[in-house]
Amino acid sequence: MGNVVQQDILQQLEQLRKDASAALAQADTAEAMREWHTEYLGRKGRLTAILRNLGSLPGEERPLVGKVANEVKDALENALQERQAASAQAELEAVRRAESVDVTLPGRPQNLGKLHITTRTLREIYAIFTAMGFQIYDSPEVETDEYNFQLLNMPPGHPARDMWDTFYTTTPGLILRTHTSPGQIHAMREYATEPIRVILPGKVYRYEAVDASHESMFYQVEGLAVGKHITFCDLKGVLINFANQMYGEGRKSRFRKSYFPFTEPSVEMDIDCVLCNGQGCPVCKYTGWLEMLGAGMVNPVVLEYGGYDPTEFSGFAFGMGPERMALQKYGIDDIRNFYTNDMRLLERV
Ligand SMILES: [Zn+2]
Repeated sequence: MGNVVQQDILQQLEQLRKDASAALAQADTAEAMREWHTEYLGRKGRLTAILRNLGSLPGEERPLVGKVANEVKDALENALQERQAASAQAELEAVRRAESVDVTLPGRPQNLGKLHITTRTLREIYAIFTAMGFQIYDSPEVETDEYNFQLLNMPPGHPARDMWDTFYTTTPGLILRTHTSPGQIHAMREYATEPIRVILPGKVYRYEAVDASHESMFYQVEGLAVGKHITFCDLKGVLINFANQMYGEGRKSRFRKSYFPFTEPSVEMDIDCVLCNGQGCPVCKYTGWLEMLGAGMVNPVVLEYGGYDPTEFSGFAFGMGPERMALQKYGIDDIRNFYTNDMRLLERV
């Protein structure tokens, strides 16, 4: 080597700086930048190769060359860092652009839920009766045979029990209630001998073959008024007022005689069909009338079981099916639709 002069090495360093700067400007990826570093600044790179000649310089010339070499090395390393930072920034910008929200696009409509038809119907019923002074009274869904049947004037073997086959628990005598009527006994025994005005809403259970008009679980709202001098006129007045509020003023109604073990006399109440105004349509089976509820004067036997003296007190009771009322009101043709969560139905009503 001996002939190397200081000037040559300085030129080589200058050339290296120019080449490296130009190459760095072309390095677009992290991989390309690593390769660039290996080629120019690595242990076997071009800078190292130049500095290897340093030893052949006269001692007094070395510090200057060493100083320039360090400057070139620092400058290139700084340039690499800047280039890496700029590249990372550019990548970040690209991601931001790709993920940015275009606020000029039309928004997606928010799909708001709403209350179930049964819940809405129940709330309408509650509002009407509470305005007439009735309280809402909760009673259990699991009942004893005594409350579900016997205290409602259906002793074991009573033929009316056949109308209400139910679900039995593994505890003998403990059943799922077939109607909300046992709540009448609970309410009477709690308040006797005060006057009572309550509605008893809740789920009831029947061991039924499920079809378009029968479910094994459904809602009932029962009503009970007990006091002195309560007559059949009070029953009619309350129920006609209810029908007018529920379905609109001016509804026609009619009462047909019927039979329930726990009321005497018993009636079924019809209103003129809300869909065809009594003209006749498939929902009312072309009769012009819709069956709305069953009702009657509380049987003296039941009053007595409840703790009221039937020679002093009288009362009326009624029971209705909110799902059936909603079926009629919204023209739904299958009671099973209430619990299948079909969006087409839920959006329609
Ligand atoms: Zn009709």
